[in-house]
Amino acid sequence: MSKTFSVGGIHPDDSKFSRDYPIENFPIPKRVFISTNQHLGMPAVPVVKKGDTVKVGQLIAEPGGYVSAPIHASVSGTVSDVAPYPDFLGKKVLTVVIDTTGDQWEEGIERSPEIRHEIIATPEEIFKKISGSGIVGLGGASFPTHVKLTPLVGMKPEYLILNGAECEPYLTADYRLMIEHGQEVLIGGELMRRALGADVSGIIGIEENKPRAIELMRELTSKSLQWKVVPLRKRYPQGGEKQLIDAALGRRVASFALPISTGAIVQNVGTAYAVYEAVQKNKPLISKVLTVSSSDLSIQKNYRFRVGTPIADILSHAGAMDKDGNLSQQFAKVVNGGPMMGKPVSNLEAPVMKSTSGLLLFTEKETKRKEPGECIRCAKCFEACPMRLQPYLLYQLALAGRTQELEEHRVFDCIECGCCLYTCPAHLPLLDQIRLARNASLKNKRKK
Ligand code: SF4
Ligand code: SF4
Repeated sequence: MSKTFSVGGIHPDDSKFSRDYPIENFPIPKRVFISTNQHLGMPAVPVVKKGDTVKVGQLIAEPGGYVSAPIHASVSGTVSDVAPYPDFLGKKVLTVVIDTTGDQWEEGIERSPEIRHEIIATPEEIFKKISGSGIVGLGGASFPTHVKLTPLVGMKPEYLILNGAECEPYLTADYRLMIEHGQEVLIGGELMRRALGADVSGIIGIEENKPRAIELMRELTSKSLQWKVVPLRKRYPQGGEKQLIDAALGRRVASFALPISTGAIVQNVGTAYAVYEAVQKNKPLISKVLTVSSSDLSIQKNYRFRVGTPIADILSHAGAMDKDGNLSQQFAKVVNGGPMMGKPVSNLEAPVMKSTSGLLLFTEKETKRKEPGECIRCAKCFEACPMRLQPYLLYQLALAGRTQELEEHRVFDCIECGCCLYTCPAHLPLLDQIRLARNASLKNKRKK
């Protein structure tokens, strides 16, 4: 029987129009813009300078601290700049710009598609390889994977859960990865499981709207004593770490506690694939799969792109730009990520990053926000909140700037899933206000 999480959640139409479009290798871009801030924690520190020549897979920035990750060149060519450039939100970030020449790779990286099944690396070697390959959580959080796999004192992992829920509407990158590269995903998961400890159990959580992926991963794990597939009832935000642990194991992560306190570590299936490539092929994280999908159904793609490719290049190749290099008239908005948690792109020249999961195109009609009315105290937002928060109250407190009370009502537990916003019949900008207040509180805390 399929499982699901116990509190809140919503059932938006899954709109996975691109599910039957195989992954295409996106052409190597003429120029890449590789941000040094592609992970949670300290930005990476460039080790190359203007004029240097680099090969694919070469280290170009080293970790800026323990919670950080190295960054590698995704193309070969000449470093034409190391300077702040605006990201997709317009915020300036130190960036390494590389003008591409050819496609020359660092020695020792295996590029053949042959699958390397045999695991010979020790747990220490696996851990070291993950850390040195710049692997971060590819489900969106971008937390450095080696840090997440480091056991905390007194907390013993019992389960490694591979997150194949992909609960955000439209996105199909993880689905395509599972059905096209299920073996590699499983080997990557097994590598992480071994790094955590031989007695750790592996679980692959997949929503029921991906029956082919469930069937295939079940087939691949049928003879395994360590791994099992857990089908999940379709429900958003099932792919949230805390919700997935609840769904798969029936264990709840307490307020302010880390997921590992339940004995579980969650890693995205894309991360597992990256771990496979790093350990079995010696390939650092320089490419990733994303979905390009438009709500009017005219554009459906799943691309494997080189990190740092400009968003405009991807949209242009997919057919979403006009001949003058502007977004085609039929589209009013580009969203980076899924429609629930993604953010609008304000700078099309900005690059895609390690964790970019999708570029979604919406028409004018769909982007029009309805006029907000008065709260009618229906409590729908409360029922939908998977963190058992009171969004209507947090909204009022945020508007009034009552920081202390926001914290007392657990504003920091908000996972920014947008379920409250989705359900509110008064169309109140609940999440926008809560997010603003939460970020302001966080900033204040950091200053203290
Ligand atoms: S965005 Fe925050 S407050 Fe709203 S439903 Fe999600 S967790 Fe609850
Ligand atoms: S869903 Fe909207 S209208 Fe209903 S209680 Fe929450 S904020 Fe008020």
